[in-house]
Amino acid sequence: MNEHPALPVQMKGVRGEGATKWRVVHPDIMKLGVRSFCFSLLIIPTIRVAVLKDIPQVTIQGDKLWAKTQSQEFPEEIESPAKIQSTPHGFKIGNILYQDSTLQIGSEEEVLQVGEKKFKGELEIQRTARNKLLILNQLPMEDYLVGLVHGEIAASWPIEAIKAQVVAARTYAMRQQKEQSPGKQNYDLESNTDDQVYIGSLGKTEDRIVEQAVKATEGEILWHSGFYPVYFHSCCGGETETVERVWGKKEISSSIVDKFCEQCPYSSWELHLSARELLDLLKSHGLEGRRIKSIAAEKYETSPRNAIIIIETDQMSLFLGATEFRRIVGYKDLKSTWFDVQVTPREIIFKGKGFGHGVGLCQWGAKEMAQAGKNYKEILEFYYPRAVLHKVY
Ligand SMILES: [Zn+2]
Repeated sequence: MNEHPALPVQMKGVRGEGATKWRVVHPDIMKLGVRSFCFSLLIIPTIRVAVLKDIPQVTIQGDKLWAKTQSQEFPEEIESPAKIQSTPHGFKIGNILYQDSTLQIGSEEEVLQVGEKKFKGELEIQRTARNKLLILNQLPMEDYLVGLVHGEIAASWPIEAIKAQVVAARTYAMRQQKEQSPGKQNYDLESNTDDQVYIGSLGKTEDRIVEQAVKATEGEILWHSGFYPVYFHSCCGGETETVERVWGKKEISSSIVDKFCEQCPYSSWELHLSARELLDLLKSHGLEGRRIKSIAAEKYETSPRNAIIIIETDQMSLFLGATEFRRIVGYKDLKSTWFDVQVTPREIIFKGKGFGHGVGLCQWGAKEMAQAGKNYKEILEFYYPRAVLHKVY
């Protein structure tokens, strides 16, 4: 991968102890709330991830637990486990009422437990409009990435594949942080497949392998006149897909032929549905009828994936984008939009390849590349050929 600095940086010499240090001020970094950074001075961005939404109460455990409302100057120690409930004007912990819009919870060890999940950093609790709670985990980017890799891929995978995943995930998170969509001003990322699957820090020995991968790639992101629009998925099935064909967005991306994921468990799959099951799923989208006469799957001219699905019943026809059709049937059941479909008198049979949207890095392919001796830079260059690797902190 080409590693020359592609960031439009302004550089100023700053006198350090006996040596000149270069302070680098980058406009995008400034938008992230980090005023400046130095290649010799580590400033890691903080990220806010929504970990629990719309719940009436939450129980948090931790060593020397503390709580602090927005208007309190200093945190105060509270008993662990702390059961926190939403009230019409604030929060209730035990028999203490806190009348404020946000509550910060932390612990001396900086590890908090909610149910089975452990979180590093702090948890911020907000009251939502419907008197429910929104729980955000606020933590340094690098700690977030350690927890993230457990959710996205197994920590037992080869380290070069984990490193490639970490760089992709860091780029994705920093890009999301920069381009917060209007519906989620309060936080940067979801913790499910809407963004990246984040399950907190497990606090197990595998963390050390992931920590190594995060440390070895610290601050590295993919760049192409901005944070690269990085996406990743489980298994492409033999060819990756462009962003435009999947989501209709005009973002930079490449479709590449991938021989590395041939051994992936989802390289070919079948889904059998009864006509009744499919009719029920499509009813809310306006499809009427008692019998499915035909299903046509129309492929893109230059891609093996389907663009449009046309379902014809005894009463009407329904045109659906293949990505939307996959969402309706269920991402886990209809594993990709790369499929052929057959309507038989008894059932509808989908025969397909790959698992996921197919855009960007193929996780099973990356695993195989690492096993074949490729390093993370080669893996990233293969799946994101137009991106430049760059270190931003
Ligand atoms: Zn693949």
